[in-house]
Amino acid sequence: MSEQRERAVSPAVRDHVDNYVGGEWTTPASETSQPVVDPATGDELATVEFSTVETVDDAVQTANEAFEEWRQTPVAERVQYLFDLKTELEDRIDEIATALSREHGKTVAEARGEIKRGIENVEVACGMPNMMREGSGNVEDVASGMDEHAVRQPLGVFTAITPFNFPAMIPLWFLPYAVASGNTFILKPSEKVPLSSQLIFEAVDAVDFPDGVVNLVNGGAETVNTLLEHDDIEGVSFVGSSPVAKHVYETAAEHGKRVQAQGGAKNYAVVSENAEVEESVPNIIGSVYGNAGQRCLANDVVVGVGDVYDNLREQLVDAAENLTVGAGVDEETEVGPLITDDSRERVLGLIENALEEGAELVLDGRDFEHPELDGNFLGPTLLEGVTTDMEIAQEEIFGPVLCLAEAEDLDEAIEMVNSTKYGNASSLYTESGSEARQYRYEVDAGNIGINVGVCAPMGFFHFGGRKASFFGDLHAQGEDAVNFYTEKTIQIERWYS
Ligand code: NAD
Repeated sequence: MSEQRERAVSPAVRDHVDNYVGGEWTTPASETSQPVVDPATGDELATVEFSTVETVDDAVQTANEAFEEWRQTPVAERVQYLFDLKTELEDRIDEIATALSREHGKTVAEARGEIKRGIENVEVACGMPNMMREGSGNVEDVASGMDEHAVRQPLGVFTAITPFNFPAMIPLWFLPYAVASGNTFILKPSEKVPLSSQLIFEAVDAVDFPDGVVNLVNGGAETVNTLLEHDDIEGVSFVGSSPVAKHVYETAAEHGKRVQAQGGAKNYAVVSENAEVEESVPNIIGSVYGNAGQRCLANDVVVGVGDVYDNLREQLVDAAENLTVGAGVDEETEVGPLITDDSRERVLGLIENALEEGAELVLDGRDFEHPELDGNFLGPTLLEGVTTDMEIAQEEIFGPVLCLAEAEDLDEAIEMVNSTKYGNASSLYTESGSEARQYRYEVDAGNIGINVGVCAPMGFFHFGGRKASFFGDLHAQGEDAVNFYTEKTIQIERWYS
Protein backbone atom coordinates (compact mmCIF):
# COMPACT_ATOMS: atom_id res chain seq x y z
CA MET A 1 0.00 0.00 0.00
CA SER A 2 1.42 3.39 -0.91
CA GLU A 3 1.32 6.39 1.42
CA GLN A 4 -1.97 8.21 2.08
CA ARG A 5 -2.43 10.77 -0.71
CA GLU A 6 -3.13 14.40 -0.07
CA ARG A 7 -6.63 15.71 -0.63
CA ALA A 8 -7.21 19.04 -2.33
CA VAL A 9 -9.80 21.17 -4.19
CA SER A 10 -12.61 19.72 -2.04
CA PRO A 11 -12.50 16.84 0.42
CA ALA A 12 -13.61 14.46 -2.32
CA VAL A 13 -11.88 15.71 -5.47
CA ARG A 14 -8.18 15.22 -6.18
CA ASP A 15 -6.36 18.03 -7.99
CA HIS A 16 -3.83 15.69 -9.57
CA VAL A 17 -4.18 12.57 -11.67
CA ASP A 18 -1.56 9.87 -11.29
CA ASN A 19 -1.00 6.44 -12.70
CA TYR A 20 -0.97 3.44 -10.39
CA VAL A 21 1.58 0.87 -11.47
CA GLY A 22 3.18 -1.93 -9.46
CA GLY A 23 1.42 -0.81 -6.29
CA GLU A 24 2.82 2.76 -6.51
CA TRP A 25 1.29 6.10 -7.48
CA THR A 26 3.39 7.69 -10.21
CA THR A 27 3.07 10.81 -12.34
CA PRO A 28 3.28 9.65 -15.96
CA ALA A 29 6.08 10.85 -18.20
CA SER A 30 4.05 12.81 -20.70
CA GLU A 31 4.16 15.10 -23.70
CA THR A 32 0.43 15.87 -23.74
CA SER A 33 -2.03 16.86 -21.07
CA GLN A 34 -5.64 17.93 -20.77
CA PRO A 35 -7.59 19.82 -18.11
CA VAL A 36 -10.33 18.01 -16.19
CA VAL A 37 -13.24 20.44 -16.21
CA ASP A 38 -16.35 20.61 -14.01
CA PRO A 39 -19.07 20.69 -16.71
CA ALA A 40 -21.48 22.57 -14.45
CA THR A 41 -19.16 25.51 -13.74
CA GLY A 42 -16.29 25.40 -16.22
CA ASP A 43 -13.86 25.25 -13.26
CA GLU A 44 -10.65 23.35 -13.86
CA LEU A 45 -10.43 20.55 -11.31
CA ALA A 46 -7.15 18.92 -12.30
CA THR A 47 -4.86 18.14 -15.21
CA VAL A 48 -4.51 14.70 -16.71
CA GLU A 49 -1.15 13.81 -18.24
CA PHE A 50 -1.29 11.35 -21.15
CA SER A 51 0.99 8.34 -20.66
CA THR A 52 3.67 7.92 -23.30
CA VAL A 53 4.55 4.68 -25.11
CA GLU A 54 7.36 4.09 -22.57
CA THR A 55 5.05 4.61 -19.59
CA VAL A 56 2.49 2.18 -21.01
CA ASP A 57 5.23 -0.32 -21.77
CA ASP A 58 6.46 -0.07 -18.19
CA ALA A 59 2.92 -0.77 -16.88
CA VAL A 60 2.49 -3.77 -19.18
CA GLN A 61 5.87 -5.22 -18.15
CA THR A 62 4.95 -4.75 -14.49
CA ALA A 63 1.58 -6.49 -14.95
CA ASN A 64 3.24 -9.25 -16.96
CA GLU A 65 5.85 -9.88 -14.27
CA ALA A 66 3.09 -10.08 -11.64
CA PHE A 67 1.09 -12.63 -13.64
CA GLU A 68 2.86 -15.93 -12.81
CA GLU A 69 2.68 -15.51 -9.05
CA TRP A 70 -0.88 -14.20 -9.16
CA ARG A 71 -1.96 -17.08 -11.37
CA GLN A 72 -0.52 -19.53 -8.83
CA THR A 73 -2.37 -17.84 -5.97
CA PRO A 74 -5.36 -20.10 -5.25
CA VAL A 75 -8.62 -18.70 -6.59
CA ALA A 76 -10.21 -18.82 -3.13
CA GLU A 77 -7.37 -16.60 -1.91
CA ARG A 78 -7.60 -14.28 -4.92
CA VAL A 79 -11.24 -13.48 -4.22
CA GLN A 80 -10.45 -12.47 -0.63
CA TYR A 81 -8.99 -9.27 -2.11
CA LEU A 82 -12.33 -8.64 -3.79
CA PHE A 83 -14.27 -9.13 -0.56
CA ASP A 84 -12.00 -6.43 0.90
CA LEU A 85 -12.38 -4.25 -2.20
CA LYS A 86 -16.18 -4.39 -1.82
CA THR A 87 -15.88 -3.05 1.73
CA GLU A 88 -13.34 -0.37 0.76
CA LEU A 89 -15.55 0.83 -2.10
CA GLU A 90 -18.67 0.81 0.07
CA ASP A 91 -16.87 2.91 2.69
CA ARG A 92 -16.02 5.44 -0.02
CA ILE A 93 -19.37 5.64 -1.87
CA ASP A 94 -20.11 9.21 -0.80
CA GLU A 95 -16.59 10.39 -1.55
CA ILE A 96 -16.49 8.75 -4.99
CA ALA A 97 -20.03 9.94 -5.79
CA THR A 98 -19.12 13.56 -5.05
CA ALA A 99 -15.99 13.46 -7.22
CA LEU A 100 -17.89 11.67 -9.97
CA SER A 101 -20.66 14.24 -9.89
CA ARG A 102 -18.15 17.11 -10.04
CA GLU A 103 -16.19 15.80 -13.00
CA HIS A 104 -19.10 14.26 -14.93
CA GLY A 105 -22.09 16.45 -14.02
CA LYS A 106 -24.57 13.68 -13.16
CA THR A 107 -26.50 14.00 -9.90
CA VAL A 108 -24.96 12.62 -6.72
CA ALA A 109 -27.91 10.18 -6.46
CA GLU A 110 -27.18 8.89 -9.98
CA ALA A 111 -23.48 8.66 -9.11
CA ARG A 112 -24.24 6.62 -5.98
CA GLY A 113 -26.49 4.35 -8.02
CA GLU A 114 -23.77 3.68 -10.59
CA ILE A 115 -21.13 2.94 -7.93
CA LYS A 116 -23.50 0.38 -6.40
CA ARG A 117 -23.96 -1.25 -9.82
CA GLY A 118 -20.17 -1.43 -10.09
CA ILE A 119 -19.82 -2.98 -6.64
CA GLU A 120 -22.40 -5.57 -7.69
CA ASN A 121 -19.82 -6.88 -10.16
CA VAL A 122 -17.21 -7.12 -7.41
CA GLU A 123 -19.71 -9.25 -5.47
CA VAL A 124 -20.45 -11.50 -8.45
CA ALA A 125 -16.73 -12.02 -9.13
CA CYS A 126 -16.30 -13.15 -5.49
CA GLY A 127 -18.02 -16.32 -6.72
CA MET A 128 -15.12 -17.01 -9.09
CA PRO A 129 -14.18 -20.39 -7.48
CA ASN A 130 -17.57 -21.69 -8.54
CA MET A 131 -17.68 -19.76 -11.82
CA MET A 132 -14.37 -21.30 -12.90
CA ARG A 133 -15.78 -24.74 -12.16
CA GLU A 134 -18.60 -24.18 -14.63
CA GLY A 135 -17.55 -25.09 -18.14
CA SER A 136 -14.77 -27.24 -16.71
CA GLY A 137 -15.26 -30.97 -16.27
CA ASN A 138 -13.80 -34.47 -16.16
CA VAL A 139 -14.67 -37.65 -18.02
CA GLU A 140 -13.05 -40.82 -16.79
CA ASP A 141 -12.14 -43.60 -19.21
CA VAL A 142 -12.67 -41.70 -22.46
CA ALA A 143 -10.60 -44.63 -23.74
CA SER A 144 -9.37 -47.56 -21.71
CA GLY A 145 -7.36 -46.13 -18.76
CA MET A 146 -7.54 -42.62 -20.15
CA ASP A 147 -9.13 -39.60 -18.48
CA GLU A 148 -9.99 -36.25 -20.04
CA HIS A 149 -10.41 -32.91 -18.29
CA ALA A 150 -11.40 -29.43 -19.40
CA VAL A 151 -9.73 -26.84 -17.15
CA ARG A 152 -10.08 -23.06 -17.13
CA GLN A 153 -6.80 -21.16 -17.08
CA PRO A 154 -6.04 -17.41 -16.98
CA LEU A 155 -4.08 -15.95 -19.88
CA GLY A 156 -1.94 -13.01 -18.74
CA VAL A 157 -2.36 -9.23 -18.91
CA PHE A 158 -5.77 -7.78 -19.83
CA THR A 159 -6.68 -4.14 -20.33
CA ALA A 160 -9.97 -2.22 -20.28
CA ILE A 161 -10.51 1.12 -22.01
CA THR A 162 -13.57 2.93 -20.72
CA PRO A 163 -15.84 5.88 -21.66
CA PHE A 164 -16.81 9.06 -19.80
CA ASN A 165 -20.46 8.37 -19.05
CA PHE A 166 -20.16 5.82 -16.20
CA PRO A 167 -16.68 6.46 -14.78
CA ALA A 168 -17.11 4.26 -11.69
CA MET A 169 -19.34 1.45 -12.91
CA ILE A 170 -17.80 0.51 -16.25
CA PRO A 171 -14.22 -0.16 -15.01
CA LEU A 172 -15.87 -2.55 -12.53
CA TRP A 173 -17.51 -4.52 -15.36
CA PHE A 174 -14.00 -5.81 -16.03
CA LEU A 175 -11.48 -5.40 -13.18
CA PRO A 176 -13.04 -7.90 -10.69
CA TYR A 177 -13.52 -10.74 -13.22
CA ALA A 178 -10.08 -10.27 -14.79
CA VAL A 179 -8.18 -10.53 -11.53
CA ALA A 180 -10.40 -13.10 -9.77
CA SER A 181 -9.82 -15.48 -12.68
CA GLY A 182 -6.04 -15.09 -12.27
CA ASN A 183 -5.08 -12.45 -14.84
CA THR A 184 -3.41 -9.12 -14.18
CA PHE A 185 -5.10 -5.94 -15.29
CA ILE A 186 -4.56 -2.39 -16.59
CA LEU A 187 -7.34 0.22 -16.69
CA LYS A 188 -7.22 3.16 -19.11
CA PRO A 189 -10.14 5.40 -18.06
CA SER A 190 -11.65 8.23 -20.08
CA GLU A 191 -9.41 11.29 -20.00
CA LYS A 192 -12.54 13.43 -19.53
CA VAL A 193 -13.32 11.90 -16.11
CA PRO A 194 -10.12 10.45 -14.61
CA LEU A 195 -10.81 11.54 -11.01
CA SER A 196 -13.32 8.77 -10.19
CA SER A 197 -10.69 6.18 -11.12
CA GLN A 198 -8.22 7.87 -8.77
CA LEU A 199 -10.61 7.20 -5.90
CA ILE A 200 -11.41 3.65 -7.03
CA PHE A 201 -7.69 2.96 -7.14
CA GLU A 202 -7.24 4.40 -3.67
CA ALA A 203 -9.64 1.60 -2.63
CA VAL A 204 -7.55 -0.87 -4.68
CA ASP A 205 -4.41 0.43 -2.98
CA ALA A 206 -5.98 0.03 0.47
CA VAL A 207 -6.76 -3.63 -0.31
CA ASP A 208 -3.07 -4.22 -0.94
CA PHE A 209 -3.25 -6.52 -3.95
CA PRO A 210 0.20 -7.95 -4.75
CA ASP A 211 2.18 -5.31 -6.68
CA GLY A 212 1.43 -5.20 -10.38
CA VAL A 213 -1.85 -7.16 -10.30
CA VAL A 214 -4.11 -4.12 -10.75
CA ASN A 215 -2.77 -1.05 -12.58
CA LEU A 216 -4.01 2.29 -13.89
CA VAL A 217 -2.64 4.28 -16.81
CA ASN A 218 -4.11 7.60 -17.86
CA GLY A 219 -4.05 8.93 -21.38
CA GLY A 220 -5.78 9.38 -24.71
CA ALA A 221 -5.81 7.74 -28.12
CA GLU A 222 -2.03 7.18 -28.28
CA THR A 223 -2.09 5.42 -24.91
CA VAL A 224 -4.93 3.21 -26.15
CA ASN A 225 -3.16 2.36 -29.40
CA THR A 226 0.01 1.41 -27.51
CA LEU A 227 -2.03 -1.04 -25.42
CA LEU A 228 -3.80 -2.45 -28.49
CA GLU A 229 -0.51 -3.16 -30.24
CA HIS A 230 1.53 -4.34 -27.25
CA ASP A 231 2.83 -7.92 -27.56
CA ASP A 232 2.29 -8.69 -23.88
CA ILE A 233 -1.38 -7.74 -23.72
CA GLU A 234 -3.59 -10.85 -24.08
CA GLY A 235 -6.99 -9.24 -24.31
CA VAL A 236 -8.82 -5.92 -24.56
CA SER A 237 -12.20 -4.82 -23.25
CA PHE A 238 -13.54 -1.57 -24.66
CA VAL A 239 -16.64 0.55 -24.07
CA GLY A 240 -17.21 3.76 -26.01
CA SER A 241 -18.49 5.11 -29.33
CA SER A 242 -18.96 2.76 -32.29
CA PRO A 243 -16.24 4.15 -34.60
CA VAL A 244 -13.64 3.78 -31.82
CA ALA A 245 -15.06 0.36 -30.83
CA LYS A 246 -14.58 -0.81 -34.43
CA HIS A 247 -11.03 0.58 -34.51
CA VAL A 248 -10.21 -1.13 -31.19
CA TYR A 249 -11.76 -4.41 -32.35
CA GLU A 250 -9.86 -4.43 -35.64
CA THR A 251 -6.51 -3.29 -34.25
CA ALA A 252 -6.51 -5.59 -31.22
CA ALA A 253 -7.61 -8.57 -33.34
CA GLU A 254 -4.91 -7.80 -35.92
CA HIS A 255 -2.41 -7.99 -33.06
CA GLY A 256 -3.68 -11.41 -32.04
CA LYS A 257 -5.69 -10.41 -28.96
CA ARG A 258 -9.05 -11.37 -27.56
CA VAL A 259 -11.34 -8.39 -27.81
CA GLN A 260 -14.80 -7.35 -26.68
CA ALA A 261 -15.75 -3.85 -27.88
CA GLN A 262 -19.04 -2.25 -26.86
CA GLY A 263 -20.10 0.67 -29.01
CA GLY A 264 -22.78 3.36 -29.23
CA ALA A 265 -26.53 2.97 -29.27
CA LYS A 266 -29.85 4.18 -30.60
CA ASN A 267 -32.63 2.85 -28.45
CA TYR A 268 -36.35 3.16 -29.16
CA ALA A 269 -39.20 2.70 -26.70
CA VAL A 270 -42.67 1.72 -27.90
CA VAL A 271 -45.83 2.50 -25.97
CA SER A 272 -48.69 0.24 -26.96
CA GLU A 273 -52.42 0.94 -26.71
CA ASN A 274 -52.37 -1.71 -23.97
CA ALA A 275 -49.86 0.15 -21.80
CA GLU A 276 -50.44 1.63 -18.36
CA VAL A 277 -49.46 5.11 -19.55
CA GLU A 278 -49.32 6.77 -16.16
CA GLU A 279 -46.96 4.07 -14.83
CA SER A 280 -44.85 4.14 -18.01
CA VAL A 281 -44.16 7.88 -18.07
CA PRO A 282 -41.74 8.07 -15.09
CA ASN A 283 -39.81 5.14 -16.59
CA ILE A 284 -39.53 6.88 -19.95
CA ILE A 285 -38.57 10.21 -18.39
CA GLY A 286 -35.86 8.52 -16.27
CA SER A 287 -34.48 6.71 -19.31
CA VAL A 288 -34.35 9.78 -21.58
CA TYR A 289 -33.43 12.62 -19.22
CA GLY A 290 -31.56 10.74 -16.47
CA ASN A 291 -27.77 11.19 -16.68
CA ALA A 292 -28.73 14.13 -18.98
CA GLY A 293 -29.41 11.53 -21.67
CA GLN A 294 -25.77 10.45 -21.66
CA ARG A 295 -26.33 6.74 -21.32
CA CYS A 296 -26.12 3.88 -23.80
CA LEU A 297 -29.53 2.59 -22.64
CA ALA A 298 -31.41 5.90 -23.07
CA ASN A 299 -34.64 5.46 -25.05
CA ASP A 300 -34.36 8.73 -26.95
CA VAL A 301 -37.11 7.90 -29.48
CA VAL A 302 -40.54 7.03 -28.08
CA VAL A 303 -43.12 5.60 -30.47
CA GLY A 304 -46.78 5.89 -29.50
CA VAL A 305 -48.95 3.23 -31.12
CA GLY A 306 -52.42 4.26 -32.40
CA ASP A 307 -54.74 6.00 -29.96
CA VAL A 308 -52.27 6.08 -27.06
CA TYR A 309 -50.36 8.98 -28.62
CA ASP A 310 -52.27 12.05 -27.40
CA ASN A 311 -52.48 10.94 -23.78
CA LEU A 312 -48.82 9.84 -23.83
CA ARG A 313 -47.67 13.15 -25.34
CA GLU A 314 -49.58 15.19 -22.77
CA GLN A 315 -48.15 13.26 -19.80
CA LEU A 316 -44.59 13.26 -21.14
CA VAL A 317 -44.61 17.01 -21.81
CA ASP A 318 -46.01 17.66 -18.35
CA ALA A 319 -43.30 15.56 -16.68
CA ALA A 320 -40.41 16.84 -18.82
CA GLU A 321 -41.15 20.54 -18.42
CA ASN A 322 -41.05 20.18 -14.65
CA LEU A 323 -37.55 18.71 -14.47
CA THR A 324 -34.96 20.79 -12.60
CA VAL A 325 -31.72 21.49 -14.45
CA GLY A 326 -28.51 22.30 -12.57
CA ALA A 327 -25.21 21.09 -11.18
CA GLY A 328 -25.12 17.42 -10.22
CA VAL A 329 -23.91 18.25 -6.72
CA ASP A 330 -27.02 20.36 -6.13
CA GLU A 331 -29.64 18.21 -4.38
CA GLU A 332 -32.64 19.51 -6.34
CA THR A 333 -31.05 18.79 -9.71
CA GLU A 334 -32.67 16.16 -11.92
CA VAL A 335 -30.85 16.95 -15.19
CA GLY A 336 -27.15 17.83 -15.03
CA PRO A 337 -24.93 19.43 -17.71
CA LEU A 338 -23.46 17.71 -20.76
CA ILE A 339 -19.86 16.61 -20.46
CA THR A 340 -18.35 19.26 -22.78
CA ASP A 341 -19.40 22.30 -24.75
CA ASP A 342 -18.64 20.30 -27.93
CA SER A 343 -21.17 17.66 -26.85
CA ARG A 344 -23.74 20.40 -26.28
CA GLU A 345 -23.04 21.86 -29.73
CA ARG A 346 -23.37 18.42 -31.31
CA VAL A 347 -26.79 17.87 -29.70
CA LEU A 348 -27.89 21.38 -30.77
CA GLY A 349 -26.85 20.49 -34.32
CA LEU A 350 -28.98 17.33 -34.24
CA ILE A 351 -32.00 19.35 -33.04
CA GLU A 352 -31.50 22.01 -35.78
CA ASN A 353 -31.26 19.33 -38.41
CA ALA A 354 -34.39 17.57 -37.11
CA LEU A 355 -36.31 20.85 -37.39
CA GLU A 356 -35.09 21.33 -40.95
CA GLU A 357 -36.18 17.78 -41.74
CA GLY A 358 -39.73 18.48 -40.49
CA ALA A 359 -39.80 17.63 -36.76
CA GLU A 360 -41.58 20.08 -34.44
CA LEU A 361 -40.43 21.48 -31.11
CA VAL A 362 -42.82 20.89 -28.24
CA LEU A 363 -40.36 21.74 -25.47
CA ASP A 364 -37.33 23.87 -26.33
CA GLY A 365 -34.36 23.58 -23.94
CA ARG A 366 -31.83 25.08 -26.35
CA ASP A 367 -31.61 28.49 -24.69
CA PHE A 368 -31.64 27.25 -21.11
CA GLU A 369 -29.49 29.45 -18.92
CA HIS A 370 -28.68 28.66 -15.32
CA PRO A 371 -29.04 31.77 -13.11
CA GLU A 372 -25.65 31.19 -11.43
CA LEU A 373 -23.64 28.64 -13.39
CA ASP A 374 -21.91 28.86 -16.73
CA GLY A 375 -22.00 25.14 -17.54
CA ASN A 376 -22.77 23.01 -20.60
CA PHE A 377 -26.48 22.98 -19.86
CA LEU A 378 -29.36 22.07 -22.14
CA GLY A 379 -32.92 22.15 -20.90
CA PRO A 380 -35.20 19.16 -21.41
CA THR A 381 -36.18 19.19 -25.05
CA LEU A 382 -39.06 17.33 -26.70
CA LEU A 383 -39.62 16.98 -30.43
CA GLU A 384 -42.58 15.42 -32.20
CA GLY A 385 -43.31 14.34 -35.75
CA VAL A 386 -40.01 12.44 -35.82
CA THR A 387 -39.75 9.83 -38.59
CA THR A 388 -37.12 7.14 -39.17
CA ASP A 389 -35.63 8.90 -42.22
CA MET A 390 -34.43 11.80 -40.02
CA GLU A 391 -30.85 11.96 -38.74
CA ILE A 392 -32.09 12.38 -35.16
CA ALA A 393 -34.01 9.09 -35.44
CA GLN A 394 -30.91 7.20 -36.55
CA GLU A 395 -27.99 8.75 -34.63
CA GLU A 396 -27.32 8.57 -30.91
CA ILE A 397 -28.31 11.89 -29.28
CA PHE A 398 -26.57 11.60 -25.87
CA GLY A 399 -28.41 14.63 -24.52
CA PRO A 400 -31.69 15.46 -22.74
CA VAL A 401 -33.84 15.22 -25.88
CA LEU A 402 -36.94 13.07 -26.35
CA CYS A 403 -38.21 12.40 -29.88
CA LEU A 404 -41.85 11.42 -30.22
CA ALA A 405 -42.96 9.34 -33.19
CA GLU A 406 -46.18 7.57 -34.13
CA ALA A 407 -47.00 4.11 -35.52
CA GLU A 408 -50.32 2.62 -36.60
CA ASP A 409 -49.71 -0.76 -35.01
CA LEU A 410 -47.04 -2.81 -33.21
CA ASP A 411 -45.71 -4.32 -36.47
CA GLU A 412 -44.95 -0.84 -37.81
CA ALA A 413 -43.42 0.19 -34.47
CA ILE A 414 -41.09 -2.85 -34.47
CA GLU A 415 -39.99 -2.00 -38.02
CA MET A 416 -39.07 1.49 -36.77
CA VAL A 417 -37.15 0.06 -33.78
CA ASN A 418 -35.14 -2.19 -36.10
CA SER A 419 -34.45 0.57 -38.65
CA THR A 420 -31.21 1.79 -37.05
CA LYS A 421 -27.70 0.39 -37.44
CA TYR A 422 -27.46 -0.07 -33.65
CA GLY A 423 -28.83 -2.86 -31.45
CA ASN A 424 -28.12 -2.06 -27.83
CA ALA A 425 -31.52 -1.85 -26.12
CA SER A 426 -35.22 -1.29 -26.58
CA SER A 427 -38.27 -1.09 -24.32
CA LEU A 428 -41.95 -1.89 -24.81
CA TYR A 429 -44.69 -0.61 -22.54
CA THR A 430 -47.71 -2.92 -22.59
CA GLU A 431 -49.87 -5.10 -20.35
CA SER A 432 -50.35 -7.63 -23.18
CA GLY A 433 -48.29 -10.82 -22.88
CA SER A 434 -48.60 -11.62 -26.57
CA GLU A 435 -47.35 -8.14 -27.57
CA ALA A 436 -44.45 -8.51 -25.16
CA ARG A 437 -43.62 -11.92 -26.65
CA GLN A 438 -43.70 -10.58 -30.23
CA TYR A 439 -41.45 -7.67 -29.20
CA ARG A 440 -38.89 -9.86 -27.43
CA TYR A 441 -38.84 -12.17 -30.42
CA GLU A 442 -38.64 -9.64 -33.27
CA VAL A 443 -36.58 -6.74 -31.91
CA ASP A 444 -32.92 -6.99 -32.83
CA ALA A 445 -31.29 -5.65 -29.65
CA GLY A 446 -29.11 -7.13 -26.93
CA ASN A 447 -31.23 -5.82 -24.03
CA ILE A 448 -35.01 -5.67 -24.06
CA GLY A 449 -37.15 -4.07 -21.36
CA ILE A 450 -40.82 -4.81 -20.90
CA ASN A 451 -42.21 -1.89 -18.88
CA VAL A 452 -38.59 -1.14 -17.92
CA GLY A 453 -36.91 2.00 -19.29
CA VAL A 454 -33.27 1.32 -18.40
CA CYS A 455 -32.79 -2.39 -19.03
CA ALA A 456 -29.35 -2.77 -17.42
CA PRO A 457 -28.71 -6.40 -16.48
CA MET A 458 -27.56 -7.45 -13.03
CA GLY A 459 -23.88 -8.40 -12.70
CA PHE A 460 -24.60 -12.13 -12.90
CA PHE A 461 -26.06 -11.72 -16.43
CA HIS A 462 -24.01 -10.71 -19.45
CA PHE A 463 -24.26 -7.18 -20.86
CA GLY A 464 -23.78 -6.29 -24.48
CA GLY A 465 -25.51 -5.17 -27.63
CA ARG A 466 -25.81 -6.29 -31.23
CA LYS A 467 -25.16 -4.84 -34.71
CA ALA A 468 -22.99 -1.66 -34.56
CA SER A 469 -23.37 -1.59 -30.75
CA PHE A 470 -20.98 -4.49 -30.26
CA PHE A 471 -17.87 -5.94 -31.91
CA GLY A 472 -16.82 -9.35 -30.66
CA ASP A 473 -18.69 -12.33 -29.26
CA LEU A 474 -18.27 -12.61 -25.48
CA HIS A 475 -19.93 -9.74 -23.60
CA ALA A 476 -19.15 -8.07 -20.26
CA GLN A 477 -20.19 -9.39 -16.81
CA GLY A 478 -21.25 -12.79 -15.52
CA GLU A 479 -20.47 -16.05 -17.29
CA ASP A 480 -19.38 -14.29 -20.51
CA ALA A 481 -16.69 -12.48 -18.50
CA VAL A 482 -15.31 -15.80 -17.21
CA ASN A 483 -15.21 -17.16 -20.75
CA PHE A 484 -13.48 -14.00 -21.95
CA TYR A 485 -10.83 -14.03 -19.22
CA THR A 486 -10.03 -17.76 -19.29
CA GLU A 487 -9.01 -20.39 -21.82
CA LYS A 488 -10.47 -23.85 -21.48
CA THR A 489 -7.65 -26.29 -22.05
CA ILE A 490 -8.24 -29.97 -22.65
CA GLN A 491 -5.97 -32.30 -20.70
CA ILE A 492 -6.00 -35.98 -21.69
CA GLU A 493 -4.00 -38.33 -19.51
CA ARG A 494 -3.03 -41.95 -19.11
CA TRP A 495 -0.58 -43.52 -16.62
CA TYR A 496 1.56 -46.63 -17.31
CA SER A 497 2.81 -47.31 -13.82
P1 NAD B 1 -15.19 7.52 -26.92
O1 NAD B 1 -15.27 6.45 -27.96
O2 NAD B 1 -14.92 8.91 -27.37
O3 NAD B 1 -14.03 7.18 -25.85
C1 NAD B 1 -13.97 5.94 -25.19
C2 NAD B 1 -12.52 5.60 -24.88
O4 NAD B 1 -11.80 5.48 -26.11
C3 NAD B 1 -11.81 6.66 -24.04
O5 NAD B 1 -11.06 6.00 -23.03
C4 NAD B 1 -10.91 7.36 -25.05
O6 NAD B 1 -9.68 7.78 -24.48
C5 NAD B 1 -10.65 6.30 -26.11
N1 NAD B 1 -10.52 6.86 -27.47
C6 NAD B 1 -11.23 7.90 -27.99
N2 NAD B 1 -10.87 8.11 -29.27
C7 NAD B 1 -9.93 7.18 -29.57
C8 NAD B 1 -9.19 6.87 -30.76
N3 NAD B 1 -9.34 7.58 -31.87
N4 NAD B 1 -8.31 5.85 -30.71
C9 NAD B 1 -8.15 5.12 -29.58
N5 NAD B 1 -8.83 5.37 -28.43
C10 NAD B 1 -9.71 6.38 -28.42
O7 NAD B 1 -16.56 7.43 -26.09
P2 NAD B 1 -17.10 8.43 -24.98
O8 NAD B 1 -17.56 9.68 -25.63
O9 NAD B 1 -16.17 8.50 -23.85
O10 NAD B 1 -18.39 7.59 -24.46
C11 NAD B 1 -19.68 7.71 -25.03
C12 NAD B 1 -19.97 6.55 -25.96
O11 NAD B 1 -19.84 5.32 -25.27
C13 NAD B 1 -21.41 6.58 -26.47
O12 NAD B 1 -21.40 6.28 -27.84
C14 NAD B 1 -22.09 5.49 -25.67
O13 NAD B 1 -23.21 4.90 -26.28
C15 NAD B 1 -20.98 4.49 -25.52
N6 NAD B 1 -21.24 3.59 -24.43
C16 NAD B 1 -21.61 2.31 -24.72
C17 NAD B 1 -21.92 1.42 -23.71
C18 NAD B 1 -22.33 0.02 -24.03
O14 NAD B 1 -22.47 -0.77 -23.11
N7 NAD B 1 -22.53 -0.32 -25.30
C19 NAD B 1 -21.84 1.84 -22.38
C20 NAD B 1 -21.45 3.16 -22.10
C21 NAD B 1 -21.15 4.02 -23.14
